[in-house]
Amino acid sequence: MKSTIFPIICILSAMLAINSCNNAAPDKTQAKYIFLFIGDGMGQAQMAATESYLAYKNGELGGIGRLSFTKFPYTGMATTYSANKSITCSSAAGTALATGRKTNNHVLGQSPDGEPYRSYTYDLKDKGYRIGIISNVPVNHATPASFYAHAASRSDYYEISLQIPDTGFDFFAGDGFLDFNGKKGDKEDIDSIIESKGYTVSYGMTEYEAEKDAEKIILCQAANKKTASKDYVVEHTEDQDISLAEMVETAIDRFKADGKPFFIMAEGGTIDWASHDNRTMSMTEKVLELDAAIKEAYEFYLAHPDETLIVVTADHETGGLTLTDDNGEMFDWEMLEDSWEKADKQDVLSDEENAGLNGKANIGWSSTGHSGIPVPVYAIGKGAEKFSGCYDNTDISKKIMLAE
Ligand SMILES: [Zn+2]
Repeated sequence: MKSTIFPIICILSAMLAINSCNNAAPDKTQAKYIFLFIGDGMGQAQMAATESYLAYKNGELGGIGRLSFTKFPYTGMATTYSANKSITCSSAAGTALATGRKTNNHVLGQSPDGEPYRSYTYDLKDKGYRIGIISNVPVNHATPASFYAHAASRSDYYEISLQIPDTGFDFFAGDGFLDFNGKKGDKEDIDSIIESKGYTVSYGMTEYEAEKDAEKIILCQAANKKTASKDYVVEHTEDQDISLAEMVETAIDRFKADGKPFFIMAEGGTIDWASHDNRTMSMTEKVLELDAAIKEAYEFYLAHPDETLIVVTADHETGGLTLTDDNGEMFDWEMLEDSWEKADKQDVLSDEENAGLNGKANIGWSSTGHSGIPVPVYAIGKGAEKFSGCYDNTDISKKIMLAE
């Protein structure tokens, strides 16, 4: 008896095994094309204010979906506290987003006592992904640097930049480099050192077009050629001709040609800077600048919907923005927009004048620093469902890497 039943059981279990293989085990492979967009300082209120402004431009009071990403099918909420503070800074938050681990404010890509953390960008590179690190603020600023560097202080800009050649990453883009010749201005040009190690640094699109066949490129604004990028300059000059959307478009164009997988992190860094200054109209323009870049990724997603993941989030909120200032029941976008245009979209208004305008427009800023409110997360595409719910900012990298 035993000798006849045993083979039958074997055959049955083999059939079951084959069957369960054929029965569509969920596809747990990683998206081939991954985009992570980080609006620095872009809390829920920054997005809501921008959508309210867009509604005003359309003669309406509100409505969701005026920004490209607010209608993405999966939404979540992420806490942002750092290892030592309730309210994070961009390097601790960037580290959490890039490595899945917390650190102290002002520390970058390593533990508070100096143990280097590995960003998953390196794991993706090992898996054959091309890597693009993009920001409209300097390449060595906290958020982009979190995805490639380690430093005891986020303001070790020179030392952070010198870590770029060792990454082997394919494409960087940003405003330029802070501390181009070191803190005291006595060191060798950052770009010369980086170029001596195999990278090409292109300043402006004209230079880029001539140099774009180089294997590894860092694309910077023309205005910053051979000079230090400036911190906290919100408005671009005429020479700063490359928009964040163009940077993302350039990365996609470079990467898509040979069909290899890629990961692109793109930061809208000036939303934070405008929010530190409580400049409402400038902030909405910066959110729209990020949105234009996200639209480039969304176009790509539409052509590759089964292989692409887009995640949009923030590192923290800035300015404690609330959409009321105890001044009636309407926002006065018309007055804010007029004043901003009269000021020629520059910081010619004093802080007092600016605060007065915000108050009259019923837009309330409670701080010139960061706040501790959780930030929204929006996702679409392959693996996007993982981003539903409430979690910590360290979980975002785990969700991208399917590590949980
Ligand atoms: Zn900030």
